[in-house]
Amino acid sequence: MSKVYWIKGRSRNAQKNILSKIDSLLGLEEMARLVVEEGSLTIKINLSELGYEHYLRPIVISTLFEKLRAMGVRVCVTDTCSLFKGSRFEGYEWNDTALVQGFSNGEIFDQQLMLAGGYSNEEGKFWPSEGEHLGGVELGSLLTDTGNVVVLSHVTAHPLLGLAGSIYNLGLGFLTKSGKLRVHACLEVGYDEQKCDNCRICLPFCPTGSISEGDGKILFDARTCNSCLGCLVSCPHGAFRVKAEGIPVFQESVVEAAHTATKNMRGNTFFISFLSSVTPQTDEYPYSDIPFIPDLGILASEDPVALDWATYQMIVSSPGVPGSIAQDLNMLEKGDDKIKAITGLTPEHMLEYAEEMNLGTRECEFLASG
Ligand code: SF4
Ligand code: SF4
Repeated sequence: MSKVYWIKGRSRNAQKNILSKIDSLLGLEEMARLVVEEGSLTIKINLSELGYEHYLRPIVISTLFEKLRAMGVRVCVTDTCSLFKGSRFEGYEWNDTALVQGFSNGEIFDQQLMLAGGYSNEEGKFWPSEGEHLGGVELGSLLTDTGNVVVLSHVTAHPLLGLAGSIYNLGLGFLTKSGKLRVHACLEVGYDEQKCDNCRICLPFCPTGSISEGDGKILFDARTCNSCLGCLVSCPHGAFRVKAEGIPVFQESVVEAAHTATKNMRGNTFFISFLSSVTPQTDEYPYSDIPFIPDLGILASEDPVALDWATYQMIVSSPGVPGSIAQDLNMLEKGDDKIKAITGLTPEHMLEYAEEMNLGTRECEFLASG
């Protein structure tokens, strides 16, 4: 049985503000074990694509960073680049985007904001993995070479996993470009010309030249496509889709990569998921619709499976937000499975496979505070 802590979202006075919520997180016994004077601790974040506006706010990350530094911990903040050619494709774009989003390396993070896989997201090492699909995966060197890691996840729906939470952050966010390509390799992208209106938005997102223009229309070359999903997140008309057959293997591959990450980090890991501004799109999209559930606060656990399971249960148990996609889909009531209605999936298959791999357990003790 794993413990999942819930720090409630509402604040009615200064004693319940974000600073005190960070103090509550630091007071959890599992988190406190990671706080070692002169020890190193990495905060894994998920920088969002430019145009996505509901990302985890810098004040949350900078407050945690400052408080840990005040406790004598050697802290750095990290992430990896995206596979598609958006605003986080390589170090140059990633740094610019971090600045625009309010993550000033110099002024807020004292130059301790670093890419886990370097400028090209290729600095890492191949680690053998257990499970049926990957055989091994490349993890960003910073994440395996430093000590303890805190994984901060902004929870959203995910089009292929059902839920973007801690397993998503571990199983994709820790990987170099080669590692991400390995996990994406099972996905086959299809293009429906009938849905395309030649808006050309997808063209700059494609890193392989698989999308081009010819005879006044958009051409797609499946032979060179690396399944980075840049076209999927950018096309406003859903002209690009992932073929359904590959999705279960993708989910299992993400779990295998997450399992490999947890096995090969030098220190301990703690997971903190923010159920605020929960949007139908992940932070990878260059836009964001309004949140579809109210802000529920913060969940935290040592166990990413228990944490994602509790997250999913809380989203289902919550009422939907009027005027959001939850209303479009007639999913406003408590108990309506908003994740399934939005994505056509639930995270259950991913979590079952994660349990089989001993990444964690869905059996959890739920401890609420705040
Ligand atoms: S066509 Fe293939 S390589 Fe190009 S953006 Fe889409 S998924 Fe990526
Ligand atoms: S973004 Fe979609 S609609 Fe626009 S050109 Fe590309 S495929 Fe066509």
